[in-house]
Amino acid sequence: MEKETKEIVIKGINASPGICIGKAYLVDSEGVEVVEKYHIEANDLANEIKRFKAAVKKSRDELRKIVQKSPEELQHAHILETHMALLKDKMLYGRTIDTVKQESVNAEWALKKVVSNLLEVFQSMTDPYLKERSTDVVQVADSIMHNLVGAKKVNIAAIDKRVILVAHDLTPAETSQINLERVMGFITDRGGKASHTGIIARSLEIPAVVGLKNASASIRSDDLIIVDGNSGTVIIHPTEDSLIQYEERKIDYEEYKAVITRESVAPAESTDGVRLAVMGNIELPEEVFALLNYGGDGIGLYRTEFQYFNRDDFPSEDELFDKYKDVVEVMAPRPVTIRTLDINGDKAVNNQVHSDEANPALGLRAIRYCLKKPQVFKDQLRAILRAAAFGNVRILFPMISTYFEICEANRMLDKAAESLEKDGLAYSRDIQIGAMIEVPSAVVMADVIAEKVDFFSIGTNDLIQYSLAIDRGNEQVAHLFQPLDPAIIRMLKQVADVAREKDIKIFMCGEMAGTPHHIPLLLGIGMDELSMNPQTIPDIKRVIRALNVADTRSFLNEVLKQTTAKSTFELIKVTYGSILSEQVYSE
Ligand code: PEP
Ligand code: MG
Repeated sequence: MEKETKEIVIKGINASPGICIGKAYLVDSEGVEVVEKYHIEANDLANEIKRFKAAVKKSRDELRKIVQKSPEELQHAHILETHMALLKDKMLYGRTIDTVKQESVNAEWALKKVVSNLLEVFQSMTDPYLKERSTDVVQVADSIMHNLVGAKKVNIAAIDKRVILVAHDLTPAETSQINLERVMGFITDRGGKASHTGIIARSLEIPAVVGLKNASASIRSDDLIIVDGNSGTVIIHPTEDSLIQYEERKIDYEEYKAVITRESVAPAESTDGVRLAVMGNIELPEEVFALLNYGGDGIGLYRTEFQYFNRDDFPSEDELFDKYKDVVEVMAPRPVTIRTLDINGDKAVNNQVHSDEANPALGLRAIRYCLKKPQVFKDQLRAILRAAAFGNVRILFPMISTYFEICEANRMLDKAAESLEKDGLAYSRDIQIGAMIEVPSAVVMADVIAEKVDFFSIGTNDLIQYSLAIDRGNEQVAHLFQPLDPAIIRMLKQVADVAREKDIKIFMCGEMAGTPHHIPLLLGIGMDELSMNPQTIPDIKRVIRALNVADTRSFLNEVLKQTTAKSTFELIKVTYGSILSEQVYSE
């Protein structure tokens, strides 16, 4: 096929800032286009065939499930039956296995070859019905290919050249395998700004654009691409002019970042003398150094689930303790807010195990999962309490949606402390306890939940998802994911008012806290502490230093009169546009 060389510019969602220019590397495939050929040694042929058979079986199982679910749609079911038959058919199944054996090639390549031969035969047929069947062959082959390549997806860690990843989607488990020496940035068809994949891109500090809809279908491995994570632009086959222009922008951006990073070790104090703690969110212990480098005043959110990914078992108490202790010691005396396990939802523990929950975001996630698995929870609670003996630890419970859950979580924490006491191990029970406010019912019940905790931490990523009914990872509705929606702002104010009334602290650790143009509003609401991905700390500190808190309180009164996210955004721009960084962020 002739190579496309015309420059193509596509727009997506700016998930992580920065610019990178390099060769594309496709990590998954929707079709049979991107397959590479490699030799299989004679003693590995049986394994290769086994791998192919497993992919076919997986396709068959998936199809069977679909057939079972759609009994009424006869037409549809009929096509699926045809597909089912094709999966067993000699011409596709048998010939692929023969090709693997005869040519000593990988199953993907063999399948691709068999399919293209079959398509030639179908295309030469005159009967329109039979001609149509070529579509079925392609779809069935795609499904097998997807399963074959899907298994390879996990191999992101094995990439051995400097590339930009291009994928239909990347799960957090896959993203967390990215080797930073190899991967310059990534782009995906799916995902929104607050998806976990976007969050990880920011914590890895590599440029990323998500929600590109079908970019992975129009880019091939080794195509030259530019990824502008500041504006959400991707350029395929850039012209000489574009390359020069983006090289310059890249240098400008890096200089700008270096300047604000230098200033960021100083505290964030407003022009009227109010100091705000600006903390970092981390996923992996190694990130603490970047966090300190960016001037973080502590860790406002340690997402502990990443120690549970890409493995078949659960980490032991000692393993967790070692990791937490390292972080706590490096950060001391600064606070480290360890959030207990928040898995499921869009963060399945193991990539290979797909939950069969119809609505994982509403399913057995976070605190619900932990209360259902007391041993897993207890191991983590004990590890946290033990680490607390080495510095300043706070514990944070995610996805609290009822008063009962926070009572249970506290009870489990007490039990963990008692068991440590019995075992004679060093620990500290003198730690602050927090509830994440990220489910609307917790907003409503905040006054009651406040009785059981020392602080609230608002998780806007989920609070917006659950309040506005917007899947945080779905690019189709990403434009509706609006932190400035008046409903969200009213909820934030309500929670902050309750916290003040009950004399507990109010923090925010959702992505909203790391966006410069939200800061005047958050200061006006009275947040005590903001936590964000480390690389945005310098920018946020810079904005806080330029603001007057008393003014932001009056500004909030104006904001509360707005009826749409758009008019709120306009009001922010008109009032504070001059101090906000146009260079990095756009709405
Ligand atoms: C949130 O929901 O805002 C949050 C901080 O938690 P997570 O993104 O890990 O769900
Ligand atoms: Mg959350």
